[in-house]
Amino acid sequence: MSKGTFEHNTQPSVIRELFEYAKKRKQEIGNENVFDFTIGNPNVPTPKEVNEALIELIKNTNPIKLHGYTANSGDPKVKEAVAIHISKTFNTHIDPELVYITSGASPAIVFTIHSLVSCSTDEVIVFAPYFPEYGHYVHYKGGKLVAVKPGNNFIPDFNDFKHKINENTKLVIINSPNNPSGVFYDEEVILKITDILKEKEKEYGHPIYILSDEPYRDLLFANKKYPFITNYYNDSLVAYSYSKSLSLAGERIGYLLVNPKAHDSKGLYTKLIKIGHNLGYVSTSSLFQYLLPKVMDLKVDIDFYKENRDILYKNLTEIGFDVFYPEGAFYMFMKVPNGNSKEFVEKAKKYEIVVVPSDPFGVSGYVRIAYCVDRETIVNSKEAFEKLYRGE
Ligand code: PLP
Repeated sequence: MSKGTFEHNTQPSVIRELFEYAKKRKQEIGNENVFDFTIGNPNVPTPKEVNEALIELIKNTNPIKLHGYTANSGDPKVKEAVAIHISKTFNTHIDPELVYITSGASPAIVFTIHSLVSCSTDEVIVFAPYFPEYGHYVHYKGGKLVAVKPGNNFIPDFNDFKHKINENTKLVIINSPNNPSGVFYDEEVILKITDILKEKEKEYGHPIYILSDEPYRDLLFANKKYPFITNYYNDSLVAYSYSKSLSLAGERIGYLLVNPKAHDSKGLYTKLIKIGHNLGYVSTSSLFQYLLPKVMDLKVDIDFYKENRDILYKNLTEIGFDVFYPEGAFYMFMKVPNGNSKEFVEKAKKYEIVVVPSDPFGVSGYVRIAYCVDRETIVNSKEAFEKLYRGE
């Protein structure tokens, strides 16, 4: 393949289609009669301190500065605030000169893929089940997406991982807590992944980068330490987003950072910024950049999601469904009784339950239930799930 050959993704997203279907059904029969679990749109309000800080910024900042361009990689003070915050929180060293303030995690992932995938033999490894956009981004750049099978409880099958790494592997993407399963990779899992990769880097004699995609890092319900990747593996990058942790999904704010210990960290960082520039990306909202240093320590009330998880998990397991117990994010992965997720999704619609099949996430036989919904939707859906289970 030449560099100019792209695979355009013209397929409509199954998730979006189901989301649109649920929206239409709500217009037809009323919101309260549709149990829409399709999409990961946060439904816990942004902390009031965020809005207060925004108002204060608008009132007290010179409007020319407030609404003007910032440097492409972000305002230097904001980059510094991110570096200090991360270094302190995870007892690591982050260089502000290696922080790129981005419009959420999505562009951070795209820039990373574009800088590390350069020809059709280049491979990117993901762990199934995985966020479907990874595939679209890698294919668009002309690379190959390689999925590792899940082992027990959606922890990666490490043997399969070892076998799937080869001299063409350029990047491994991890995502914990995970969309769609809600699985959390604790330190033991991170150590297994990084030990394997360190061996393989030695064997092939070139860096194999890890991108840790962390939009759900602060939506961790388990009282466990988050193993920050820069403390375990040198050739690493982190994509973070305030979309979920501060319910700012529509505002588009997050960052990409390169581990200062990464191979040619400065060269890689410069390449990331150039790629952003070449893709027509000119920094992100200055207003939300200036907001960041004031709100970085805050997060939404994650107890709301945790309670939704607990009620939904109890309801579904009492009915008889086989459900994976998620430790973070706001998704539940449920096994489909006869193994055919597409058929199950169609059947569920008859009970006005809208869930998404697991196939776009790289595994079959499950559905994803996004439980970032009203409490009433969780509680009132029990009867419909019961009928669906019994096939009434
Ligand atoms: N990565 C994962 C795993 C996600 O689930 C999402 C959004 O749902 C993103 C990245 C992108 O998030 P954003 O671009 O809003 O920061």
